Amino acid sequence: MNGEEVTGAPGPLDNAQRQLADAVRLLGYPDSVLAALRQPRREITVAIPLRRDDGTVEVLTGHRVQHNVSRGPAKGGVRYSPAVELDEVRALSMWMTWKCALLDLPYGGAKGGVRLDPRNYSAAELERVTRRYTTEILPLIGPDRDIPAPDIGTDEQTMAWMMDTCSVAAGHTVLGAVTGKPLSLGGSRGRAQATSRGVFHVALAALQSRGHSPESSTCAVQGFGKVGRDAARLLFESGLRVVAASDQYGAVHDAEGLDVHALERHVDATGSVLGMPGADALPGDLLLELDVDLLVPAAVEGVIHAGNAHRVRADIVVEGANGPTTTDADQILSDRGALVVPDILANAGGVLVSYFEWVQGNQSYWWSEQEVNDRLEHRMIAAWHEVTSYAGAGGMSLRQAATCISVRRVAEAHRTRGLYP
Ligand code: NAD
Repeated sequence: MNGEEVTGAPGPLDNAQRQLADAVRLLGYPDSVLAALRQPRREITVAIPLRRDDGTVEVLTGHRVQHNVSRGPAKGGVRYSPAVELDEVRALSMWMTWKCALLDLPYGGAKGGVRLDPRNYSAAELERVTRRYTTEILPLIGPDRDIPAPDIGTDEQTMAWMMDTCSVAAGHTVLGAVTGKPLSLGGSRGRAQATSRGVFHVALAALQSRGHSPESSTCAVQGFGKVGRDAARLLFESGLRVVAASDQYGAVHDAEGLDVHALERHVDATGSVLGMPGADALPGDLLLELDVDLLVPAAVEGVIHAGNAHRVRADIVVEGANGPTTTDADQILSDRGALVVPDILANAGGVLVSYFEWVQGNQSYWWSEQEVNDRLEHRMIAAWHEVTSYAGAGGMSLRQAATCISVRRVAEAHRTRGLYP
């Protein structure tokens, strides 16, 4: 993921499996639990032939992995990125299982992806890719089986195409086939910002737990997409000094604090944070090493690794992205006394409001944005307290505590359902 990463360093699946093994050990469970949970329940790899606008045909590769379905239908995003690999999708699907269990949502975990760079395709081509990918994975997905949502490179338009493709196949409108839909198609108010809002609430709680007030705190946000951008704005609006922000093209830095509203306008106008008037350019990787109170990696996995973790100076790392800190880096940060709020807690606001969308759809009764935001804050703060008290009682890190709570819930579902046949 990162140019400096040591060759042969563990990838996301190794990290996910090591975190699981650690939790199984801490819980005192037998190896059979590890064996049952370390690999996905089901996975499918599909070829996606795409007719390009110029008439040529290109064949893309897509995946859908269901890690676990013991507590309910599988749930997880669909990623469009040139970096999509089956092992990455497997890791992301496992983290979804833990995230849903941690928030006590009636879901298992899944993830999907198509290996392509969406910037190189027209909207019409992306629609054809999405419809063909959806058709190929149709035997696995559906409102009672597996419910996709947006992730890197996909958005509510992608979800509308997926929902429409499922509906055409079923012969009737299936609103519950996906979440993260546009409001006009049964989306939930507050879904678009939900992940960022969850990151924000947990970040404020973490700052408070370390004796920092928002007004006296500084922060840096890696990634200025769906998660990072709104998280940066909410933190800025609550008084934090956001001293740096980045995207895949590089970072911008202002020790006095960036005006995040102006940065948003700049990104809307130019497509990147780079060139923000009044801010200095900074190599993207150096953003992670700034002397800030709060670091929010909200881009991709594996960015804080054994090669750079000892240079990360932030007191608190709140993982907006999935898997941004490798297991080795986790240890280095914890040895230094930094507080790492793990992804399965920090960015769970997105799947939480996806669940609210599914509940509202099932009831055909829609909540106000205030209601969604209040319930989101309440559930996120409750999860924060649950994880911090479990960690305190067991003398463990927040990641170990969050993973233990989740693994315990999933293992309990396995045990009580029994082994078939
Ligand atoms: P996105 O595609 O909207 O945005 C990703 C951002 O990261 C973009 O600004 C991109 O330029 C930037 N980026 C990519 N590589 C980078 C790098 N090496 N350095 C700095 N910036 C880089 O995606 P998103 O939905 O915001 O997802 C970001 C992360 O959050 C992913 O790990 C995703 O799995 C996770 N996540 C997303 C949601 C959601 O609801 N969208 C929910 C939970 C977790």
